[in-house]
Amino acid sequence: MEENNISHLYLFITHIHWDHILGFPFFNPIYDSSSKVFVDGHPNCLKGRKYTFNNKMGDGFFPIEFKDLKAGISNIETLSKREPLKIDGTLIESLPLHHSQGSYGLRFMEGEKRLVFMTDNELEKDSESNGKEFDKYVKFCQDADVLIPDAQYTPEEIKKCRGWGHSDFQTTYELAKRANVKRLDNLPFTTNTMESKKGINQ
Ligand SMILES: [Zn+2]
Repeated sequence: MEENNISHLYLFITHIHWDHILGFPFFNPIYDSSSKVFVDGHPNCLKGRKYTFNNKMGDGFFPIEFKDLKAGISNIETLSKREPLKIDGTLIESLPLHHSQGSYGLRFMEGEKRLVFMTDNELEKDSESNGKEFDKYVKFCQDADVLIPDAQYTPEEIKKCRGWGHSDFQTTYELAKRANVKRLDNLPFTTNTMESKKGINQ
């Protein structure tokens, strides 16, 4: 969004594992004084975006500190408190996911259209308690036009990777089917291993 030559950018951070925040120091608008960046998402996201600059591992990783950034960067702390956020005509909601150290899924709704971004989530449905959790995810994804899910493993691989915070593509597919999702998107992006990619293609 642009207003009086100031760009308003919204950055939603699902969690702060390294693979999700390492790109932040290379995000050009943070070096531009005409940018206003509003950050929301997982409750750790404020800490995470600072630590990518001011990390405790020692000097020499990156030549710039967080305080040197030119853009106005602020937290809006709405999705992080599980409150819905409205930007123009889009309503955004958050849901905690099953992932080590926590992660949030996000649902974007504009009119009748729904997109759910729900990566980094270990789906399980075998016991009564995780069956209930599975139902919670089904509800969040209900009638989505697009679901961007976690489908990292094959059903064989997941047996060795239980508790690692990611799903197998078969359980993800079952979730999408039960929730009447119209399109599963970006599977190659959320899938790490060659085996999973082969499985999805089959
Ligand atoms: Zn993660």
